[in-house]
Amino acid sequence: MAGHQFADSPEGLAPGDSLLTTALICRSEHILSCSPAVLQTLPPPMQERHDRLRRSIDRHSFLAARIAAKLLWGWALGRDPAECQLQQQCPTCGGPHGRPRFAANGALTVSWSHSQDLVGVIVGPGCVAIDVESGSTDPPPTLTRGRTPQERLDNWLLAECWTKAGYCELDEALSLIRRSVSPPPKPGIPDPRRLHLCHLAWTGARALLLSQEPCTLMSDPSSLLTTSSF
Ligand SMILES: [Zn+2]
Repeated sequence: MAGHQFADSPEGLAPGDSLLTTALICRSEHILSCSPAVLQTLPPPMQERHDRLRRSIDRHSFLAARIAAKLLWGWALGRDPAECQLQQQCPTCGGPHGRPRFAANGALTVSWSHSQDLVGVIVGPGCVAIDVESGSTDPPPTLTRGRTPQERLDNWLLAECWTKAGYCELDEALSLIRRSVSPPPKPGIPDPRRLHLCHLAWTGARALLLSQEPCTLMSDPSSLLTTSSF
């Protein structure tokens, strides 16, 4: 069988070496078109959620985010991403939604975001969070303050990232932003001022990443995976 071959982790990390924080932001279609079928299968509860989505753009982003998470997991650990097992279980109702996590390798955490046909995923040790918003997003001024659409969008990105990092709930994050204050420090989560912020202007979209360690940002999923030729 002419299989696929997965790229080696950068510098060939040995066990015990520090794990890298890597993010991938690109179009869903790019991830779907270069990923082998083995990465496109979802556990039953995720598959059911996927199948309930009405718009194909949402189904594609849903699947692409999970594939990207597997690719980044494999990249960080130097392992076949097909071995990666993702879980989502809501702490409130037990349903198959809520913050995603890796079933094994507790050292790595994952966060993802999609907006229209864009997907952003970040994987790394400790606290990670990502939010991606397409250029057409304009959050209501009453929620996010900000004089211009760009300021409002940046405030929205920050609120989403604080929420995903676990500082506070979204309404509290927006309230803090309207008062120009950072969330209070929380045990187990680094001081919000120490987190690494990275904006990128890319086809009108904006993204914000929070990570405990410096993050490498990638935009080409095929560099996480190479397909062998016959
Ligand atoms: Zn729930």
